[in-house]
Amino acid sequence: MGLDDDAREYHRSEPPGKIEISTTKPTNTQRDLSLAYSPGVAAPCLDIDEDPDRAFEYTAKGNMVGVVSNGSAVLGLGDIGAQASKPVMEGKGVLFKRFADIDVFDIEIDEDDPDEIVRSVAAMEPTFGGINLEDIKAPECFEIEERLREEMDIPVFHDDQHGTAIISGAGLLNAADIVDKDLADLDIVFSGAGASAIATAKFYVSLGAEASNITMCDSSGIITEERAAAGDVNDYKAQFASEGAGGDLADAMEGADVFVGLSVGGIVSQEMVRSMASDPVIFAMANPDPEITYEDAKEAREDTVIMGTGRSDYPNQVNNVLGFPFLFRGALDVRATDINEDMKRAAAEALAELARQDVPDAVVKAYGDQPLKFGPEYVIPKPLDPRVLFEVAPAVAEAAMESGVARTGVDTDEYAERLEA
Ligand code: NAP
Ligand code: MG
Repeated sequence: MGLDDDAREYHRSEPPGKIEISTTKPTNTQRDLSLAYSPGVAAPCLDIDEDPDRAFEYTAKGNMVGVVSNGSAVLGLGDIGAQASKPVMEGKGVLFKRFADIDVFDIEIDEDDPDEIVRSVAAMEPTFGGINLEDIKAPECFEIEERLREEMDIPVFHDDQHGTAIISGAGLLNAADIVDKDLADLDIVFSGAGASAIATAKFYVSLGAEASNITMCDSSGIITEERAAAGDVNDYKAQFASEGAGGDLADAMEGADVFVGLSVGGIVSQEMVRSMASDPVIFAMANPDPEITYEDAKEAREDTVIMGTGRSDYPNQVNNVLGFPFLFRGALDVRATDINEDMKRAAAEALAELARQDVPDAVVKAYGDQPLKFGPEYVIPKPLDPRVLFEVAPAVAEAAMESGVARTGVDTDEYAERLEA
């Protein structure tokens, strides 16, 4: 119980919580105050009234992300509601600040109706340079994000969906390379068909996997066209319905090249791992307990098993903090109107490329005994690697410019140097 009590104390010590607002301009004199507020503030207001884009010049909008949740699917805690989710959303703000110097307002909305959530969030557009949707349950999260992306002229990104997709996607690119298999040929089995699994399956297709090679299982087994036709699964799951006979997860895993677990802990046996194709890739990402443990998966076979989990105490941790801070950094710095597929792919490719580079000593030290050399035990960079910022954010900014969603341009090399400094 040590950690729980320490966490209570961490949060409760004065001042309560983990974030505060601080001012960035002088406020010492009467003159300072008349610049900050009335009457001086009228001048920038009128300029923005004339040209709304000048909000980026005069306000904090361009470095401000709204972390928005209704608390309906919080970490592994479930539907604990908006108020109880606030420590998590403040924590997300801490990560944005720590990893990418982005400021966050955490917005907890006491509302479950997607229409109301969409209306509330869309109305907040003037405040923010981007919206990070967080811990909103499936399937509502899909519709909410889709509609907000359409309605809003700033990036809207549901991290629980795309974070996992991007980080594990980077791992998949490298893993496929190591075991010398083509993405298009990979037989991929998903355990789980919720927020993260659906988005991850879609993203793998966008990286080059074939949708027809994906078998997806939910808590009732393989999602088949028969189940889809019977109305047994929602439209999002139905996109990945397999032809042919159904079965359970064990059936699905026979002969598979890749297992992606985004479901619940402990449901994959060594027998199931043994039934997979040669040199299997196993991303068992249920938290806190993976679908199969690192040890069990490795011990199950003699050939190469590339294993990733959500845990920091094993190799190849799929940690979302490798993604969202840098995606938003790159997007904000070109005032992007969206975080689109090209930008997500650019992030995954930059992460994959970074894992192939030699790791600085300071990073190796920070991770103690883990082997940090490109190979089966290291296909994904480490969260505390400072290079992630200046490798990923410029790649994202460049993809934004090339795909036409950037409102301003940057020189990518100069930008990378600025981030590194
Ligand atoms: P979610 O939207 O609630 O989806 C959970 C899915 O798991 C559902 O589709 C559910 O099936 C399925 N499921 C439950 N029991 C199952 C079983 N026995 N066999 C097969 N499928 C089963 O949750 P999520 O946000 O996608 O997250 C899923 C898991 O992944 C969680 O453990 C989460 O912590 C983890 N995760 C890890 C990372 C990471 O490591 N970076 C990131 C995101 C999520 P039904 O649809 O039939 O209910
Ligand atoms: Mg989350």
